Amino acid sequence: MARSVEAIAVGTELLLGQIANTNGQYLAQVLAEHGALHYHQTTVGDNRGRLVDALRLALGRADMVVTIGGLGPTQDDLTKEAVAEVFGRAIVVDEPSWERIVSRFRGRGRPTPNNRRQAEMPEGAVAIENAHGTAPGVLLEAAYPAADAAGAVPRVVICLPGPPNEFRPMVSGFFAAYLERWAAGPDGARTVLQSRSLRIAGMGESQVEHELRDLIDAGENPTIATYAKPGEVEVRLTVRAGSPAEASALLGPVEASVRGRLGPWIYGADEDALGGAVVRELAERGLTLAVAESCTGGLLCQRLTEAPGASAAFLLGAVTYANAAKEAVLGVPADLLAEYGAVSEQAARAMAQGVRRRAGAALGVGITGIAGPEGGSPEKPVGTVFVALASGDGTWCRRLGLGGDRAVIRWRASQDALVAVRRYMLSGPSAFER
Ligand code: ATP
Ligand code: MG
Repeated sequence: MARSVEAIAVGTELLLGQIANTNGQYLAQVLAEHGALHYHQTTVGDNRGRLVDALRLALGRADMVVTIGGLGPTQDDLTKEAVAEVFGRAIVVDEPSWERIVSRFRGRGRPTPNNRRQAEMPEGAVAIENAHGTAPGVLLEAAYPAADAAGAVPRVVICLPGPPNEFRPMVSGFFAAYLERWAAGPDGARTVLQSRSLRIAGMGESQVEHELRDLIDAGENPTIATYAKPGEVEVRLTVRAGSPAEASALLGPVEASVRGRLGPWIYGADEDALGGAVVRELAERGLTLAVAESCTGGLLCQRLTEAPGASAAFLLGAVTYANAAKEAVLGVPADLLAEYGAVSEQAARAMAQGVRRRAGAALGVGITGIAGPEGGSPEKPVGTVFVALASGDGTWCRRLGLGGDRAVIRWRASQDALVAVRRYMLSGPSAFER
């Protein structure tokens, strides 16, 4: 039976929303990589009573509890006191830790009596070296509720400091190594957790879920879940197994069924990026692409050229911000811009056609829009973006109303253009005019 780990992040700052619990996220990733069961993560403020409650709850249901933060020298750093209280232990000074603290201060003034607090531990605990800060971590292996109590069970408590530059190396170093040994358990049973993400562009989340409904409902190991990302959907398969080989054997057939259902709408897996996938698919079909960008300022070109080998299909990118540039570089007629404006379906179409002609490409894309925060109007509010695609068979355009801040709007516009090119390749212009 695999053992479970529960995390408690300590800090009123977290509850006030002043900082994000990035340490909790990092710990969760490391736990997942090691296949530890991680069913609960709690956040509690700098309050001794509530921290004691949280510890009791966690120790009642998890084999190991990891606390994050509250090891500092000040009065609101209460984690060690709370752990000592829960186990009915005294607080004692760990002399080697105190000597390390004193030597850290050498040449930088004197440690204050408060720093001595950082060398304190619940009796019977062991200090965990902190190479990047003053406060050592704490490891306590003890029976809970108490060694002689009825129903006492073995528990591990690990307290780690809050500053991420101290926390992360202690997690990737000491903690990961400890976990590796501990996770095997007395009977040596191990689990690995493996996951596979399939990336879908051009099909919405509800459609993806509809296609996979029965697989999702039936999926226990691996489990199947869909996640909506800006402009795309991720389907994640997660499997728990006794070995990497067993994990792969369990994942394989389920991945094959998902691929069977979604077919070419899956553009890649895991870390694959859409820009590179589009270039690869263009090259496979012997197609070439040129793009003219306004509001995305080169983001689309950047995404198309991120992966090596882009020259196989990508010919030219023009960032034409000024009307004069749209005229001179792309041949967009001045009177068209005067009549409809630079942010218009007509301008986007003319940009796509112009850059296609200029590059001698099979496909041309034109993007023009208002990324904000200024420049919107009632007819064309911020987030209005026109994405046009020109081919030898015609020109099509989509008008988008995108939400989000400037960066999000620019990203989604580039995403839509990439999706448009894919949809055109997979199912022709009808798919483009959604
Ligand atoms: P210090 O010695 O600095 O007091 P500490 O171990 O007592 O360290 P906290 O006081 O809880 O830890 O937090 C110190 C700083 O570490 C916080 O101001 C915050 O910037 C960061 N921090 C704490 N907890 C987290 C967390 N869960 N995720 C990300 N950052 C955190
Ligand atoms: Mg602190």
